[in-house]
Amino acid sequence: MKNWFRSSGAVACAVSVAFVGIGLMRSDAPPVRDEAMERHEVRCDTQNISVLSSDPADAKLACEGAHDAINFLSAQGFEIVHRVSIVIAPKLPLAGRDSAAGLYLDSTAGCNSESAREVQVLSFSAFKKLKNWFHIPIDASLYSSLVAHEVAHAISACNFKVAMPSIQAQEYIAYVTMFAAMAPAIRERILQQYPGHGFDGDWQMSTTIYLLDPMRFGVQAYRHFLKPANGRSYWRAILAGEVMIE
Ligand SMILES: [Zn+2]
Repeated sequence: MKNWFRSSGAVACAVSVAFVGIGLMRSDAPPVRDEAMERHEVRCDTQNISVLSSDPADAKLACEGAHDAINFLSAQGFEIVHRVSIVIAPKLPLAGRDSAAGLYLDSTAGCNSESAREVQVLSFSAFKKLKNWFHIPIDASLYSSLVAHEVAHAISACNFKVAMPSIQAQEYIAYVTMFAAMAPAIRERILQQYPGHGFDGDWQMSTTIYLLDPMRFGVQAYRHFLKPANGRSYWRAILAGEVMIE
């Protein structure tokens, strides 16, 4: 789709990074920026979202992923108050908990229109070198999905009513957003790679189960979300810290 973003100046530094998957990194430290390359900041048409990238095509895909995530989360009643900065880099930092193709830098930044939360994702060319994601070949659409996942982390961070939500609570929201925003045909192909009927309840969604296989966790969480008793009411329980507490 056209006009997802507009250019707004140039930046000349990059994040030094290195993982593989989807990550959530809890850190108050600023990202390491030691790799010189020219990148440009673009503002997506979607309010509050900007992308720092050396490749306009990557920025466009990132804007699309962010747009889809925010559309879905807004419809679920999430508030979008702070800005989200998407940093696209050829490698991600080593300090995160997960190997990751993308990560959210969980920070103490505020939750108002003056504050910004940062997510980092690999460049599309670096992401494609992984060849497969969720056991299907990586394409541009999956790249936007990767961004949607990380943006969902950044948005949900300011919607939790508890100070320290569990890892699985945060990942549930990020994965459900990602799958809900995904092109249906691609989502169907991924679901076929992970047979099952979804989690029956939060007692099955522990940190351990998540860490054992994050991608399987994501698929089964999405199926759980689709069950009639869950959906939006389950979001509220997660955000309130009523379920998935460690
Ligand atoms: Zn995640």
